[in-house]
Amino acid sequence: MVQWILKGIEKFQKEVFPRHRARFEALATRQSPKLLLITCADSRIDPNLVTQTHPGDLFLVRNAGNLVPPDAAAGSEAATIEYGIRVLGIRDVVVCGHTDCGAMKSLLQRGTLEELPAVRRWLETAAPALRVLERRGLAPDDPDALRAVTEENVLVQLDHLRAHPAVAAANVRLYGCMYEISTGTFLAHDPARGAFVPLPEAGLDREE
Ligand SMILES: [Zn+2]
Repeated sequence: MVQWILKGIEKFQKEVFPRHRARFEALATRQSPKLLLITCADSRIDPNLVTQTHPGDLFLVRNAGNLVPPDAAAGSEAATIEYGIRVLGIRDVVVCGHTDCGAMKSLLQRGTLEELPAVRRWLETAAPALRVLERRGLAPDDPDALRAVTEENVLVQLDHLRAHPAVAAANVRLYGCMYEISTGTFLAHDPARGAFVPLPEAGLDREE
């Protein structure tokens, strides 16, 4: 393995693990995460760091663009959501998009993705988010288009989640969030206001 990652593993084993040994031993044969977080694969998002949580706290789905394909009968997202809700008993699910998202940039330029056929196909799950451009009169290259599509994509994926049989059957609480990389700010979708508003002042209102 590459040397720099070996150094990190060695430091974890020698310095970090011993300090948290009891926590890891308690997690050895069971987990009971309280929240399913669906967020982007982007390397700049560290879920445990930005929520100040620990191993065992968050059940994660990560992929390019924080997408939830609508086919609830197939795919890793559907399986992970189903397992999290039906087996682990999770009742709070957050979809979190972020600024400067490469997947959302690709969605805005999807006419130029000949070299990225898998990306183009994958982003079909996010394509309904492009409706916001027409609604707000934005061109794909408008400076505001990326933020608008990224936020709208969170709402599209919440719609897909609502249609998931495990979500519908278990009265799961859904939330939409945005994370701003350059400021560390979180914004939550407020369904009453139809807007993303900064946390924690705004609180976290469930979508339904
Ligand atoms: Zn992203």
